[in-house]
Amino acid sequence: MYAIIDCNSFYASCERAFDPKLINKPLAILSNNDGCVISRNKEAKALGIPMGAPLFKYKEIITQKNIQIRSSNYSLYGDMSERVMKLLENFSPEVEVYSIDEAFIKLPESEDYQQVGLDIKNYIFQCTGIPVSVGIAPTKALSKAANNIVKKFPDKTNGSYAIDTEAKRIKLLKWLPINDIWGIGKGNKVRLQNKGAQTAYEFTQLTDDWVKRNMSIVGLRLKKDLEGEPTILFEDEVQNKKVIATTRSFEFTFSDKQNIKERIATFAARCAEKLRMQTSSCNVVMVYLKSDRNKKNELQHRANRILTLPYATNSTLTINEFAQKALDDIYKPGIKYKRAGVILTGLVQTDALQLDLFKNENPKHKQLMATMDTLNQKYGGRKIKMASQDLQRTWKMRQAYLSPEYTTKFSDIIVLNCRTI
Ligand SMILES: [Mg+2]
Repeated sequence: MYAIIDCNSFYASCERAFDPKLINKPLAILSNNDGCVISRNKEAKALGIPMGAPLFKYKEIITQKNIQIRSSNYSLYGDMSERVMKLLENFSPEVEVYSIDEAFIKLPESEDYQQVGLDIKNYIFQCTGIPVSVGIAPTKALSKAANNIVKKFPDKTNGSYAIDTEAKRIKLLKWLPINDIWGIGKGNKVRLQNKGAQTAYEFTQLTDDWVKRNMSIVGLRLKKDLEGEPTILFEDEVQNKKVIATTRSFEFTFSDKQNIKERIATFAARCAEKLRMQTSSCNVVMVYLKSDRNKKNELQHRANRILTLPYATNSTLTINEFAQKALDDIYKPGIKYKRAGVILTGLVQTDALQLDLFKNENPKHKQLMATMDTLNQKYGGRKIKMASQDLQRTWKMRQAYLSPEYTTKFSDIIVLNCRTI
């Protein structure tokens, strides 16, 4: 069985874990430079603070309703995230970190999965003060859907829901609208609706053939997963991929190049790491940038650049060097970018590499990468990075409402005042 563990209102929960004054109070977290709201708890949501709300527009209501605000404190959130992920290893040796506040784990056999979920929730809360929702099911897509149930019915589920019978799976699929299926994009949503499917159940009733033709192999995998057949696997179970990609939507749009350079460097590093995990090297690096096409009144730009490398490599430094060159070619000032990606193709097995007579990887890189991987595996959290990656996103940022770095800075450790009675 798979479980997804999702931290509730993660940034807000991290702040609250160290500041009891925030308990049951509306709280909103601001983006870099305190521009707009990127996370808020349910109390702030109930008061009408939408995601992405620009601070200057909502100043009045924030003061009126006494909504607490904080600058984003990524050192704190990153550290708390690592703690949660580390604790999950107590429940399973197989943990796949999916995002800063979500992880899939593979659960050992149990008589009572609902209880396992509750145990996970209670343990994480006891150790970190972070509330989580746990969805459990035979596949990843179903566990995601089970997690939706937990979020929708917090009182009934008490934080955990397990799909452990066929009847529950069918009931879940009939309840789940197409919109809320994990990984269904806009195009596929429209395709399914035109075909008359409104729920996940109706999606699974379509023929494999139709799904494959209209939604590609990715759609078919999703269908199988929803049918209870584990088809979307853990990243490291997928043996030797032909393409390696790290692509993400940003929390917010970025137009300054420095921010985008940092993201590309991080994606390139992640791709190179995946490449080395399967002992491959790549010959081609592709980078793409996209603005937010939903913002019709803003300047739109989408572009990609494909660069062929002079030699096959899996060095983070070389791959990033070319990824940055590709970025230089496509980046346009003044565009608000929402999404970017680094994609590596032309993969070959590193041990079967034909050495080029003249152009080869700097031999020092191999040793450096091996050391980097070993240290990062040993200490977790990818502590060893290139200088171009975001080491401290606090650099030169406006952060007027920043909380202390409770867990990563000695000078910010909580002070307890005790007195004898
Ligand atoms: Mg979450």
